[in-house]
Amino acid sequence: MSQLKKHFPILRGVFGAAKGTVKAVDEVSFTIRKGETLGLVGESGCGKTTVGRCIVRAYPITGGQMLYQTRDNEFIDLAAVPEKELAPFRRDIRLIFQDPYSSLNPRMTIFELVSEVLRVNKLCSRDEMQSRVEDLLKRVGLRPEYMQRYPHAFSGGERQRIGIARALITNPRLVVCDEAVSALDVSIRAQTLNLLESLQADFDLTYLFISHDLSVIRYICDRIVVMYVGKVVEVANALDLYMTPRHPYTEALLSSVPIADPVGRETRRRIYLQGEVADPSHPPTGCYFHPRCKYAQDRCKTETPDLRRLNGHHSVACHFAEKLELKGVIYD
Ligand code: SF4
Repeated sequence: MSQLKKHFPILRGVFGAAKGTVKAVDEVSFTIRKGETLGLVGESGCGKTTVGRCIVRAYPITGGQMLYQTRDNEFIDLAAVPEKELAPFRRDIRLIFQDPYSSLNPRMTIFELVSEVLRVNKLCSRDEMQSRVEDLLKRVGLRPEYMQRYPHAFSGGERQRIGIARALITNPRLVVCDEAVSALDVSIRAQTLNLLESLQADFDLTYLFISHDLSVIRYICDRIVVMYVGKVVEVANALDLYMTPRHPYTEALLSSVPIADPVGRETRRRIYLQGEVADPSHPPTGCYFHPRCKYAQDRCKTETPDLRRLNGHHSVACHFAEKLELKGVIYD
């Protein structure tokens, strides 16, 4: 995607006159490579979920491009595709939601939930639908004989597997996992991540993995994009980002990642960020992170740093990226 923007108007009064704009996503550019798992991280309110929703075209796009390479190797700008022509792209690009409890309609059976998109779009016969749902339920570790049951009969981990089956039923190419394991217990989380990894290999999937927690996506991502107040502040290979972060915000996020190494643990200090994420309708001047950055200097208050490439794989938006000696974590 290139220079992607998603702005929401702030409406006032019963007539809904616009009194301002929330720049939830502001000139965001990055690439998702075929077959990779790209992590998108940041605190809540940084715009990462909005980016995911833009990719599945849950919203109209304010500006910028989302170039998508089709199965026929054509490039289509998803941001410009009219709503009535989006159906094939919505089958190719699917979303797994965070909350396995609220994302499944409690009045629908598992069969109805998983097959819904096939049924609504009349994509196959009832028999074919039945066998596809059965195969997929088996593949995600659920018993097909339970497909006439309702979601309340399943645990949180099982419901997330139903959500995964629901996403994969169209044979997609890109899956946006929006905090897909955040609501799960730690042991179930590990199982679900392992399942997603094995499904990626079997179904030739590309993942965009959205999370507020760098420790969750530590082992699953090939590359990571860090966002702060609607902007990308760092992009790097996962190993580089964890071991040698170049943006103070990434350093602070990493300082809360638990590590096993006792030596590293002794020399490590958690960085508690002051205050909240800035309000995207009234962002600070200069570098948006400056009110919370312990390395901020006068220049940071007035000059907005561009995202610039430090080397082949590592880009950062900080005036002092080359000079700061930031702490990462040991990547075991
Ligand atoms: Fe901190 Fe300044 Fe770098 Fe922003 S530009 S992250 S305020 S040092």
